[in-house]
Amino acid sequence: MTHIISASSDAISQAAAVIQDGGLVGMPTETVYGLAANARDGKAVARIFEAKGRPQFNPLIVHVNDIEAVQAIAYMSEQDMCAAQKFWPGPLTLILRRREDSGLSDLVSAGLSTVAVRIPSHKTARALIEASGVPIAAPSANRSGTISTTTPAHVAQSLGNAVDMIIADGASDIGVESTVLDCIGDAPCILRPGGITAEELSEVLGCTVQYDLGDKDSGEVKSPGQLLRHYAPRVPVRLNAIDVEEGEALLTFGPAQFMGMRGSGEQALQALPDSAIAHLSKEGDLYEAASNLFAMLHQLDLPEHKAIAVMNIPDQGVGVAINDRLCRAAKACKNNVSGS
Ligand code: AMP
Ligand code: MG
Repeated sequence: MTHIISASSDAISQAAAVIQDGGLVGMPTETVYGLAANARDGKAVARIFEAKGRPQFNPLIVHVNDIEAVQAIAYMSEQDMCAAQKFWPGPLTLILRRREDSGLSDLVSAGLSTVAVRIPSHKTARALIEASGVPIAAPSANRSGTISTTTPAHVAQSLGNAVDMIIADGASDIGVESTVLDCIGDAPCILRPGGITAEELSEVLGCTVQYDLGDKDSGEVKSPGQLLRHYAPRVPVRLNAIDVEEGEALLTFGPAQFMGMRGSGEQALQALPDSAIAHLSKEGDLYEAASNLFAMLHQLDLPEHKAIAVMNIPDQGVGVAINDRLCRAAKACKNNVSGS
């Protein structure tokens, strides 16, 4: 049975312990219920994707309580500050440049150099962030492909035992997700409509804020800016590799003794320089692999590498999302070499 506990200081302490322990908490917010985890803990963030049954790693929103905490993870311009002062705490998410020393897991922003941040107003969400003492990553607390949840009962129905604990605090007031404002480009634009409108934002920011929602039907993006949402390495990616070719880098999963340099028999793992090999998880732990994925792709994405050969990753649990991202990275590269 899922653990539903009414909001109280005791419940908050218990939930904070769950968060600090790498667990998942159903967290009430003023928009919808969130599926909360420690944004610094890659394995905990990987659990969010698995719990939601999300077949893809989409970037998540990081929730903090004050501007200082935002500035510890992202850079804010004067214009960002105007939006923040007017609409925070509240249902506005800002896409900002991520600080290199943010301490956040790479998985939270799906390997991007940007991060989505929000300061919620809901007192229970704020109390949980305070008690946890860490930034909290939280997408909506529902299975992927189903509607967002606005009551604790719906969270339990949608996620069942995949969530360790749910803090019950009535129905969410707003009931729709936050407005997502992209603050990276020359002109701020809304990537997801929400309670705060383009008109309100235009007035406060002193410029015209437009919607840039992509094409929902085709799943394609309209604005070239939106293409930046998905990180892909520049060098080709070769999937399901059972060996390494000359000049390739290697991304391993699980024990890698059987790997050999193509054409040179069973030697070779040792022949790879340290800069050309990274281990997603030596133990074959998919959560660990997910949490390492983006950092390790970045690490191996060097011009001196002809390709990144990636060992087979089981297509189950969070492995589905890992494979989705790797397949897209493989397809995104023209001269890609097919897997062997
Ligand atoms: P959810 O976490 O389900 O509330 O959804 C978060 C929304 O914010 C999604 O529409 C994401 O695509 C968007 N988002 C989060 N981080 C970024 C980012 N770094 N760049 C662009 N969009 C983002
Ligand atoms: Mg959602």
